[in-house]
Amino acid sequence: MSVEKHEFEAEVKQLLGLMIHSLYSHKEVFLRELISNASDAIDKLRFDGLTRPELLPSGAFEIRLGVDEAARTLSVEDNGAGMSREEAVANLGTIARSGTGEFIEKLKASSGKLEAPDLIGQFGVGFYASFMAADEVSVLTRKAGESGATLWKSDGGGGYSVEEAERDEAGTTVTLQLKPADSEDGLADFAQTWTLRQTVKKYSDFVAYPIHLDVTKAPTEEEEPADAETAPASDEPLDSNEPLNSMKAIWTRPESEVGEEEYSEFYKHISHDHSEPMLRITSRLEGTFEARSLLYVPGRAPFDLYHREMAHRGIQLYVRRVFIMDECRELMPEYLRFVKGVVDAEDVSLNVSREMLQQDRQIRTIRKHLVKKILDTLKELKKADPEKYLRFWAEFGPVLKEGLLAWDEKRERILDLLLCPSSHHESELTSLDDYVERMPEAQEEIYYLVGPKHEALVDSPHLEAFRDKGIEVLLLSDPVDEVWLQQMPPEFQGKSFKSVGRGEVDLASEDEKQQAEETRKQEEETYQDVIAAIRSAVQDEVKEVRLSSRLTSSPACLVLDDGEITPQLEAMLRQAGQEVPTVKPILELNGSHPLLQKLQRIFDKDAVDPRIASYAQLLFGQALLAEGGQLADPAGFSKRLAELMVEALGESG
Ligand code: ADP
Ligand code: MG
Repeated sequence: MSVEKHEFEAEVKQLLGLMIHSLYSHKEVFLRELISNASDAIDKLRFDGLTRPELLPSGAFEIRLGVDEAARTLSVEDNGAGMSREEAVANLGTIARSGTGEFIEKLKASSGKLEAPDLIGQFGVGFYASFMAADEVSVLTRKAGESGATLWKSDGGGGYSVEEAERDEAGTTVTLQLKPADSEDGLADFAQTWTLRQTVKKYSDFVAYPIHLDVTKAPTEEEEPADAETAPASDEPLDSNEPLNSMKAIWTRPESEVGEEEYSEFYKHISHDHSEPMLRITSRLEGTFEARSLLYVPGRAPFDLYHREMAHRGIQLYVRRVFIMDECRELMPEYLRFVKGVVDAEDVSLNVSREMLQQDRQIRTIRKHLVKKILDTLKELKKADPEKYLRFWAEFGPVLKEGLLAWDEKRERILDLLLCPSSHHESELTSLDDYVERMPEAQEEIYYLVGPKHEALVDSPHLEAFRDKGIEVLLLSDPVDEVWLQQMPPEFQGKSFKSVGRGEVDLASEDEKQQAEETRKQEEETYQDVIAAIRSAVQDEVKEVRLSSRLTSSPACLVLDDGEITPQLEAMLRQAGQEVPTVKPILELNGSHPLLQKLQRIFDKDAVDPRIASYAQLLFGQALLAEGGQLADPAGFSKRLAELMVEALGESG
């Protein structure tokens, strides 16, 4: 069949442009990426071969590097799963990860600046990194189980071509037409064996399949190449069968023997993340079931952490050093989905399938052990290195809090790890422990206020009475906070959580109570009529209008009844496709505010003065805005506000 030309997807073009022209300094990582892909493809075929042995190659799994010194080509070949023509087009011409669009926008915004390489790293450079070292890249691939092969070619410009081809066995060969070495640009000479050896040793030593090297020497006039000066003679066992990598499972080696750099390269290999990990957690489960694990917390949240279809690179499962599967979700709860790493179990069956995993008692035991180990490590970190813990919390706190949504998992332990601002510490974070420590003797509950915007919480009228009394209130503004606090409020150290935005608040001491009760009765009598008038003006928006005991300076605020969901949660649930009843808030008015007194006076003069209804609408609207809510009719609100401004000026001018 003829050669078919394709354009790269717009996002690929942008990424390629950035990669090729940015200041990306570690150009040699392209080799790591190609070897990683080869190793992934072999993993995949190994796994498929468990159930369909006819797919397996005739020889052993291996990765071969081939250098042709004269032609200046480098190839990376594997006998893994290969790709069909459609797969090659989809995998090598598009970026299928969700959220890629937004991400590229961010990249573009920072292009040329220092941030760009960092961002590329966060994204994972992948296959396209080859274009940092090559003028042209071709991929010859044949999918296991198919007879035809595909040749994919591109010069990294706007597009690529695909055509039918032949290949003896299933697998993939990626061939690079190497750019000239350029030391200024940080590009070493990858036609040189020792560069290849060094790079493999540095980045891919632990790859589980042997990486062999075949060299086609450039014809030289003399027998001995002058090359010997740059390359140490001992580094040239030419046609030895010795692989370039040791293939040692890094988690089986004593920690003291493995350098931090090696650990960090291993992290990059399994996570497809390019930046340094924040934490490394090794552990060993002993007893009835045995397992070892090497886990990492990434340096920062991947950009697609909150996308539902996020690429879970998560946890790889090995059984007795043999790779079984990627993204073994059964080993890690959702709220720890940012943790990456390897688990090597001793007694699980090598033929374990995904369906079996869920039932497997051993897997459940290992999962429990890992969760405990991770939470312990975080707790320790919180104590030992608060600054680093803050960084951790900033990246992953909101995800960790998702763990509070389930009864069964370790809620109290997660609460222990929680940090949030409070009315006493608006721009710092406090832990629940410290909050409880500061609680006055008489305070029985943990007070909190939840809403979509931190700034709105800080200035919320709901806090007024609490501030006056010096009572600290936690301020929670992550979307998930709405859910865990409302749907299944937990307890912490035997104390329950109480929202200052709901129900009635009762901050008065016994002595004050009587006094407060009196004032309240008086106010209720005084304002009875005007409150009724206000109520009828906003009856579509609120279910009740009443006097407040939580306001000292603002004229009004909105509160919910205990047990009712906030408008934010309501919106979230709707978006998730759930049916939820519309909840109407309660409008609370400040009986000591001059506005209410003035309205009462207007009412006394003329009970149907239209200004009362207007003001009622404005009071409701501004109370809604004050808590970061959204007006149903912003234009109407503005119009009414403008009218009243004119009127106010008219009177004074
Ligand atoms: P990632 O490895 O993070 O998925 P890459 O850009 O490295 O991203 O590779 C893109 C995709 O191309 C891979 O997910 C895989 O489907 C396919 N691919 C790349 N190299 C190979 C290979 N050697 N064998 C089979 N498939 C490959
Ligand atoms: Mg890859």
